[in-house]
Amino acid sequence: MATGNINVSVENIFPLIKKFLYSDHEIFLRELISNATDATLKLKHLTSIGEVSVEYGNPVIEIKVDKEGKKLHIIDQGIGMSADEIQKYINEVAFSGAEEFLEKYKDSAKDSGIIGHFGLGFYSAFMVAEKVEIISKSFREEDKAAHWTCDGSPQFTLEEHDKTARGTEIILHIAEDSTEFLEDARINELLVKYNKFMPIAIKFGTKEETLPLPEDAEEGAEAEKITVDNIINNPNPAWTKQPADLEDADYKSFYRELYPMQFEEPLFNIHLNVDYPFNLTGILYFPKLGNDMNMQKDKIQLYQNQVFVTDNVEGIVPEFLTMLKGVIDSPDIPLNVSRSYLQADGNVKKISSYITRKVADKLNSLFKNNREDFEAKWNDIKVVIEYGMLSEEKFFDKADKFTLYPSVDETYYTYEELNEKIKDTQTDKDGKTIILYASNKDQQHSYIEAAKAKGYEVLLLDSPIVPHLIQKLETSKENISFARVDADHIDNLIKKDEEQISKLSDEEKESLKTTLTEVVPADKYTVQLEAMDSGASPFMITQPEFMRRMKEMQQTGGGGMFGMGNFPEMYNLIVNTNHELVGEILNTKTKKKQERLIKQSLDLARLSQNLLTGEELTQFIKRSYDMIK
Ligand code: ADP
Repeated sequence: MATGNINVSVENIFPLIKKFLYSDHEIFLRELISNATDATLKLKHLTSIGEVSVEYGNPVIEIKVDKEGKKLHIIDQGIGMSADEIQKYINEVAFSGAEEFLEKYKDSAKDSGIIGHFGLGFYSAFMVAEKVEIISKSFREEDKAAHWTCDGSPQFTLEEHDKTARGTEIILHIAEDSTEFLEDARINELLVKYNKFMPIAIKFGTKEETLPLPEDAEEGAEAEKITVDNIINNPNPAWTKQPADLEDADYKSFYRELYPMQFEEPLFNIHLNVDYPFNLTGILYFPKLGNDMNMQKDKIQLYQNQVFVTDNVEGIVPEFLTMLKGVIDSPDIPLNVSRSYLQADGNVKKISSYITRKVADKLNSLFKNNREDFEAKWNDIKVVIEYGMLSEEKFFDKADKFTLYPSVDETYYTYEELNEKIKDTQTDKDGKTIILYASNKDQQHSYIEAAKAKGYEVLLLDSPIVPHLIQKLETSKENISFARVDADHIDNLIKKDEEQISKLSDEEKESLKTTLTEVVPADKYTVQLEAMDSGASPFMITQPEFMRRMKEMQQTGGGGMFGMGNFPEMYNLIVNTNHELVGEILNTKTKKKQERLIKQSLDLARLSQNLLTGEELTQFIKRSYDMIK
C-alpha cells in the first residue's frame, strides 16, 4: 500500500470547493457521470479503430444508492485506470484542474451570471462527500486493479484491489450535510435533469415491466411481469440525428420527451446542424404563443455533448427567440464565464446570428411553401416575429418578405401586397399613404365601419408591441404613416382635397363652440368642430395617434424617447356641424335643455368608446329612462 501527499499549493482545497460552489453542489453527479461517459466513449473509440481487442458490448453506467452505508456508487465499464494512471490523472491532472478552476472561479463568483460549472470535474465529489474511493481496473489485461481513497485532506492512499471487471467505480461517502443525495427521489431528479440525453445508457435501480399477452392467450390470463433495468436516458436524442432521417412525428415525439408536462403540440420546428466555423446541433420549436410574451421564456435547454448545462440561454440565443422551446447542443460555448463576457465572445456571436438566420429561413420557406397554413399559424407566432423585427436589424430585413398584416376581415397581406392594395385609395393630399388599423374589432367597431364605408382597408394589429413596431416601420419605409381608426374623424385621418361645406355660418360656429365648452369639461376634452357628412355621428371621441401611441409604448416598456412623465388622459371631442342634432343644440333656447342635449350626446359618444363607467354610467342610464318615459 502506498500513501502520499497530493501536491497542492492551497493547504486544503476541499473546504474551498464546498464554500465556493455552495448553491451548485448537485452538479457533482453530472461531473462524475460525464467522466464515466468519457471513459466509456474512449474505450469505444479504441475498439473501433482496432487498437484493443476487448469486447465493447453494451456498456452501462450504474448509479447505486446505499442509504444505510451512506454511500453513493457510480460504476462504469469504460477504459479504467491503473495505479499509475490514478496517480497521474487524479492526483496530478484532476487536482491541477480543480485548482485552476478555483482560481478562475474566485474572480467570476462576484458576477452572478455564471452558467454551469464544467471544469471542476472529479473533485466536485468533495462538495458532498467526506471520503471518496476509486476502484479501477484498466482495459489492459496486465494492469492490476487499484484502490484509491482520500478523505478530503491532501493525504491519499493507493493500494491494489481484486476487482476483475474492467472499468471504474467511484464511491462517495456522503457527508452529514449532504444526505439529500442518499434519497432515491433526489438522485432520480438529478439524473433526469442533467443526464436525460447522455450518450451512454445510465442505470438506476430496476423497474417492473408487463409483458404483452401472447396472441393465443386464454381469456382472463394474467400478463407476465418481469424486472428490468431502469434506464434513465435516451442515448440517441433526435437532435443528434440527421434531419433527413426524421419525420414530423419524430420531432413531435421528441418534443414530448423534452416537455413531458406540456400537452400542446408545437407548431413547427427548426433543426440546427452546423460543424463549421463552430459546432452546433439542436432543434427549436415554435410553441403556440398567442399574445403572451412573458410566460414561456427560458424553455430552451442548453447542452454540451448531450450533457445538460442550463435552461437559461440568455446571451446565446437572441432575446426574441428565448420565447421558443427546444435544445441547443454546442461544445463551443464558453461556460465558466460571465454573461457580459459571453456576449462579447466571437463564437457566441456567430452562433446567435446563425440561429437568427435559420429561423428566418424556416419562416420564409413555410410562407412560400404553404401560405394558407402559415396564415393559420400567424396569430400564434407573430409576437416572436414582431419582436425580432424590432430587436434584430438583420431579421427585420428578412422578415419583410413573410411578415403578415391581417385585415379586420381576415385577409392577410404582406407589406408589399398591402401597399399595392391601398396606395391609390389611401394616399392623402400630401402624397403620404396612411395605413389604418384597429386594435380591437369590437371596441372600435363604429370607427372601423366609418373607414370601410370610405372603401378603406383596416388592419387588425393587436399584439402588445404593435406601437413599437409601427414606429419602426414608419421610419424604415418611405412615405407611410399608421393611424388607428379611432385617432380622428376618418376624413382627418386621410385628408383629401375636397372640402366639406358647413351648414353653419362662422358666427353660428362661434356661438356653438361657446355653448359646448360651457358644458364639456375642458380638462378632458378639446372640442373640435368639423363639417362632416350629415349621416356621420354628431359627437365623436378620438384620441390623437401620437399621444395614444406614446402612452402605449410607455406601458409596454422602452420607447419613452422624450422622457415624458405620465401622459394626461386627453381626448378630442369632434362635433359634426352638419348633423341635425347639432343644429338643434345650437337653436335650443332654454339653457337647461341645451345642457341636457350636450351631456346626453357626450355620454353616447363616450359609451361608444367604452369610456363610460361607474357612477357616470349609472346616471346616464337613469337620465335615459327619464327621457323616454
Ligand atoms: P477532466 O474530466 O476535465 O479531464 P477530471 O478531474 O474530471 O477532469 O478527471 C481527470 C482525469 O481523470 C480525466 O481526464 C480522466 O483521464 C481520469 N478519469 C476521471 N474519471 C475517470 C473514470 N471514471 N474512468 C477513467 N478515467 C477517469
